[in-house]
Amino acid sequence: MQIPPPTPRQMYWNRVLLNTFWLVLFVYLASQLFVYFSMSAHRPELSGRQYTLLHIWIPDSILFVLLLILEAVHRYKPLLSELLIILTSHLYGILIITNLSPDYHVKPLIMLLPMLVSMIYLKENYLRTSSLICLFYIVILFLNTSIYDFTLRIQNIIITLIFAAVSLTGFAVIARGKELMRSLENSVKSEQELRIQNIIMDRLSKIDPLTDLYNHKTFHEYLGWLIDHQQSNPFPMQLAVIDIDNFKKVNDRYGHWVGDIVLRQVTAVMLQHIDSDDFAARYGGEEFVIILTSKTLEDSGRIMENILAGIAGLPISEMDNESVTVSIGMHEYNGGDSKSSIFQQADDALYEAKKTGKNRIVIL
Ligand code: GH3
Ligand code: MG
Ligand code: MG
Repeated sequence: MQIPPPTPRQMYWNRVLLNTFWLVLFVYLASQLFVYFSMSAHRPELSGRQYTLLHIWIPDSILFVLLLILEAVHRYKPLLSELLIILTSHLYGILIITNLSPDYHVKPLIMLLPMLVSMIYLKENYLRTSSLICLFYIVILFLNTSIYDFTLRIQNIIITLIFAAVSLTGFAVIARGKELMRSLENSVKSEQELRIQNIIMDRLSKIDPLTDLYNHKTFHEYLGWLIDHQQSNPFPMQLAVIDIDNFKKVNDRYGHWVGDIVLRQVTAVMLQHIDSDDFAARYGGEEFVIILTSKTLEDSGRIMENILAGIAGLPISEMDNESVTVSIGMHEYNGGDSKSSIFQQADDALYEAKKTGKNRIVIL
C-alpha cells in the first residue's frame, strides 16, 4: 500500500507533537534535577553515580537521541514522521515510567501521552495499539503489586479506570472527528458542484451555443460598460456590424445544417483577424458585431477588410466549395455617442453597404 504524502496540515500537527515531546523532555529533566538536588541529602541512593547513570543519563540520552531522529525524519522523510511519532510516544512513556522512582504513584498516567497522540491523528488503529499496550502495562502493574498492599491496589484500579475512560472517550472523539470530517468534505463537494454549476449557468447566459461567441445580451452589457469608461478614460473605439449576404439562399439551397456550418466558419475567420482587445458577438441570426478598441479607424478598417476578403475567399466544402460574402457597416465612437446611437450608425452603414451592392464595407 502506498502512503500518501502528508498534507501541510499533517506536517503542522507533526510539528506540534514534536514540540510537545521536547517540552515533556525538558519538564522531565527539570523534575529530575529538582529531585536530585532536593533529595540527595535525605536519600543518598537517589544521587549515587550508578543511580544517576542508569536512571538519568542513559534514559535521558535515549530520549534526546530519539527526538533528534524524529526531527531528522520530520525534515527529510516526512512520510514516516507520523508513524515514528506514535512509536516514540510509547517509548517515551515506557522509558519515563521505568526510570521514575516507584515513589511516584501517579507515574503510570504518563501512558496517557500515546493515547492522546493517537487521538490527534484521528486513527482508531493507533488508539487500539496504545490501549492494548496500556492494558498490558496494567497487568504488569497488578502482578507487581502485593495482594496485601490494599492502598496500591485501589490506586491501580483507579489508574485502570482512568485508562479505560480515556480510551473509550478517545474512540468516541475519533468517531465524532471523522463524522465532522465527512460532513465537511460533503459540504465542500456540494459547494464545488454549486460553483461549477454557477460557472456553467453563467457561461450559458453569456455565450451563443452555435458559434461559441458572446451573445446579444453580453454585447449590450459590454458596450454599455465601455461607453461608461469612455467618460473617465477616453480611448479609440469602433463598432462593426457584419451581416452574411443572401444567407437565406444558402439555407434554401443546401439546408439549415449547412447554414449552421457557414455561421461557424464565418466566426472562425472573424476570430482569426481580431486581437485580444477586441470583442466579437453573434448579434442574432446571421448578424455579428465586433467592438474594436485602442486602434485607429484605419487599422480597424484594415482588419475589417481582411475579414471581408477572408470570408469571400473561403471555399466551403458543404457548399460545393462556393463561398459566402458579408457586408460590414462600421462607426467610430465620437465622444457624444450613446449606446443606441453608436449601434444605429453602424447599422445604417451596414444598410448602405447592402444597398450599394453587398460584399463591402461602409464606414459612417
Ligand atoms: P441579406 O443579404 O439582405 O442579408 O439577405 P439574407 O438572406 O442574408 O437575409 P434574410 O434576413 O432575408 O435572411 C436571414 C436568414 O438567416 C433567415 C434565417 O433562416 C437564417 N438564419 C437565422 N439564424 C439562423 C441559424 O441559426 N442557422 C441557420 N442555418 N440559419 C439561420
Ligand atoms: Mg443577411
Ligand atoms: Mg440579417
